[in-house]
Amino acid sequence: MKEETDVLIVGAGLVGLSLAAALTSSKLKVTLLDARAEPVSAGIEAKSSNGYTLKSGIAARVSAVNPGSKKFLTRIGAWGRIAPARISTFKKMHVWDGRGTSHIEFGDTDNSASVLGDIAENQLIETALIETLAATGNIRLEWQAKLSEVIRHEAGYGVQLDDGRYFNCSLLVGADGGNSRVRELCSIRTIDWSYDQVALVTTVETELGHESVARQCFTKDGPLAFLPLADEHLCSIVWSVQDATDLMAIADKDFCELLTRSFENRLGIVRSTDKRFTFPLAQQHALQYVDSHVALIGDAAHTIHPLAGQGANLGFADARTLAQVLAGARLEGRSPGDLKLLKQYQHRRRAENIVMGSVMEAFKQIYSADNPGINWLRNTSMRFVNNNDLLKSLITRLAAAG
Ligand SMILES: Cc1cc2nc3c(=O)[nH]c(=O)nc-3n(C[C@H](O)[C@H](O)[C@H](O)COP(=O)(O)OP(=O)(O)OC[C@H]3O[C@@H](n4cnc5c(N)ncnc54)[C@H](O)[C@@H]3O)c2cc1C
Repeated sequence: MKEETDVLIVGAGLVGLSLAAALTSSKLKVTLLDARAEPVSAGIEAKSSNGYTLKSGIAARVSAVNPGSKKFLTRIGAWGRIAPARISTFKKMHVWDGRGTSHIEFGDTDNSASVLGDIAENQLIETALIETLAATGNIRLEWQAKLSEVIRHEAGYGVQLDDGRYFNCSLLVGADGGNSRVRELCSIRTIDWSYDQVALVTTVETELGHESVARQCFTKDGPLAFLPLADEHLCSIVWSVQDATDLMAIADKDFCELLTRSFENRLGIVRSTDKRFTFPLAQQHALQYVDSHVALIGDAAHTIHPLAGQGANLGFADARTLAQVLAGARLEGRSPGDLKLLKQYQHRRRAENIVMGSVMEAFKQIYSADNPGINWLRNTSMRFVNNNDLLKSLITRLAAAG
């Protein structure tokens, strides 16, 4: 049987869910589907989305949500559903070069916005978005629904799921992550840079309190971030390294000692660690975000290095912008798949995403190089930025936008 829907969103990750939530009042018929099983409700005994119980009770994947994204998530009714006790607000950020003497401090010391971001577990944000959709009841959400094929027809797309179900839609939205099947089936090409790096992620307990400061050290192995969690002595760490085989294999005690040294004892001794996970890193950008009757958002359109914690924030901004464009179309009586309309979304989002991707690429190159000339340049430019309040304020505002 063929089912009809105006907008079919493939991928109920953070970004696809947020687009669906932003469309609840649009009067469009929206269907959201995802290949995975429905996530378990994220209670205090948190489980990561792939089923591991964590000693700290904190899921390994967290996101630094910038003020622009928080505003969006609040407006669509999701942010307020996250237990405040599980959100950590940070007002300062310290970044330094582990192979030099320079550092940059963002936050209280300059004239920038007082809150730099909030850190929350991805699964809590997801659960909040799912609850938002359930509360409105006008978006159809299907789990264990995997897209396998698409057929282009005059008025939109026919979408075949691998369990045999079939949907017709005017607009097909690919929110299905970095390996987007929608992007592949609609023949949208990408530019890719492989980083040959993986991100090692876990939760650690530290001797000293983090004082709500986000910290990042550019170690010789790669950027190592300690993101402050709601508990003063717990941090989520992201360590981007070329090869994590040894870091994954060593005993917890040795890992904690290595972390303590690599992080220069900034938070005293790392006392304990949770289970470690790794994620491959790559940078990728779709050459176009839209075509007739199709649009890409979030990681399906662009993936960037996590060193500035901006990937999901860019995705939320995509979702917010596409929802605005679609709401406008509805008022004008235009089809949601109208290419002219979709190009407005692309026009408003692509430049910012490309700039952010390029900045991450430049950072990654500069900080992974290890020759005296680049070391000098890196330290000099860090000092320059740190002594320039106007520039710091500009960087902070860029990162906080969305
Ligand atoms: C270590 C690390 C740390 C990060 N930290 C931050 C941070 O602090 N702040 C920040 O803003 N960003 C951060 N990011 C980036 C952020 O996690 C991603 O940008 C964001 O999660 C992308 O969300 P998405 O919804 O676009 O894609 P995904 O989360 O990949 O979701 C895609 C969904 O599509 C579904 N899907 C895939 N294929 C199909 C199919 N064929 N049919 C149906 N469904 C399908 C999947 O099951 C999945 O649920 C980090 C990334 C990493 C790796």
